[in-house]
Amino acid sequence: MKFEEIDEKLKEACGVVGLMIKDDKLAKETAYIAYLALNALQHRGQESAGLICFEKNNEARLIKDMGLVGQIFDDRRLNLLNGHLALGHVRYSTTGASEICNAQPITLSNYHFKSLALAHNGNLVNTEELRQELKNENINCATTSDSEVLAHLINCKIISLDKSEILASLKDSLSKAKGAFSLSICLGGQYLIGVKDPQAFRPLCLGALEDEKGNLTGLVLASETCALDIMNARFIRELEPGEIILIDQDLNIESTFLPKVKQKSCLFEIIYFARPDSQINNVQIHSFRESLGQALAKTKNIPKGADIVIGVPDSGIPAAIGYAAESGILYANGLIKNRYIGRTFIQPTQSMRQLGIKLKLNALSSVVAGKSVILVDDSIVRGNTPRQLIKLLKLAGAKEVHMRISSPPIVWGCYYGIAMKDHELLARRLSSDIELIRKDLEADSLEYLDLDIILELTKQDKQKFCTACFNGDYPIL
Ligand code: SF4
Repeated sequence: MKFEEIDEKLKEACGVVGLMIKDDKLAKETAYIAYLALNALQHRGQESAGLICFEKNNEARLIKDMGLVGQIFDDRRLNLLNGHLALGHVRYSTTGASEICNAQPITLSNYHFKSLALAHNGNLVNTEELRQELKNENINCATTSDSEVLAHLINCKIISLDKSEILASLKDSLSKAKGAFSLSICLGGQYLIGVKDPQAFRPLCLGALEDEKGNLTGLVLASETCALDIMNARFIRELEPGEIILIDQDLNIESTFLPKVKQKSCLFEIIYFARPDSQINNVQIHSFRESLGQALAKTKNIPKGADIVIGVPDSGIPAAIGYAAESGILYANGLIKNRYIGRTFIQPTQSMRQLGIKLKLNALSSVVAGKSVILVDDSIVRGNTPRQLIKLLKLAGAKEVHMRISSPPIVWGCYYGIAMKDHELLARRLSSDIELIRKDLEADSLEYLDLDIILELTKQDKQKFCTACFNGDYPIL
């Protein structure tokens, strides 16, 4: 019997964290601080996690395993990790199988630094071409992941200890990579490096650790600002598109840039993936999602006689709050989430699917019975979850269930680090016909938010965003 994952939400490829501490006295805490940051980034990958710590003499210790951060690291394991430089990763596989050999950080031997460690968020689109190029130089990859290809590409070009030569070699090797790559890299215990691809598909930010007097004690790189918050790090800035920064043991920063192309940051990061308490490119995620809900209520038909607005936990809640505020309809908690379920697989029969969704969410009949409900979510992927939620709400006594989605129909797969394929998408299967989708979901009505309105609400240059999964406009293939 083949088992199927219950959760049909889109999966982010990964989250990364890098941390350079100046004060030797804090070296014992480096791994623990990085561990806290990985916990904050858990939503970006739940298959495997890893953490490596380097000492100043380049000695390193790596722990990585399958599972959630909290399952992999305990006091005993964290106490094994010492040093002033740490690199961490949480993973969901988009290329490369879900196996321990593909867990990150990836480490390779290096002549000058003993080892190079790399953590990658994103997906390359020219992996096979690069793999062949490496083969021609007698470098064979041991795994199926594009991140290992990147690591070899960088490692084989690092032939000097000199900072400007390292930056030049990084620029040279990474200019060949196409696709999404936000990277955090350690060169032995000497340097922490942050890289963002020229399109800036995935986020990566820089933060500062300071003592009580405001003196700089460390620098950190993280996929999202919510990881800086948990480390008590001050947000400095997002890395620029195509930027490569190199941080040394004294916390000096030097940088260079990959050749410039049009920025195309993933719009879905701010609609769904990123944690609501993060900010990306000056967009405060929670309030942005509330504004999407308000726009849904403003621009789309509000069901007559609706009694309550419910958000699908967790990601649909900010938009539901915005929808309720704009429409004047009462916001209610009608769905309760079991917070302790990780990735859960079930037998793919209809009855087991219904039970499966109940493992994650349950309807509160005392709230929904006899009511006309507006159910708000951020997106529809395969359609299994909303279909089952609508059934669940009706079984709990809801009179009507009207679905409102704070993004347009997803019609195209993603090649830049999000796990969704064309053939899985409900809207694609039903030719983006809203009435057919409504019938398939058995909703009483269905509305999606328009792409133009979402782009308007970012208050940024609309051209700066990748919108390919909505309109097929792929920035790079
Ligand atoms: S295709 Fe969609 S999910 Fe993928 S990067 Fe573009 S906007 Fe993001």
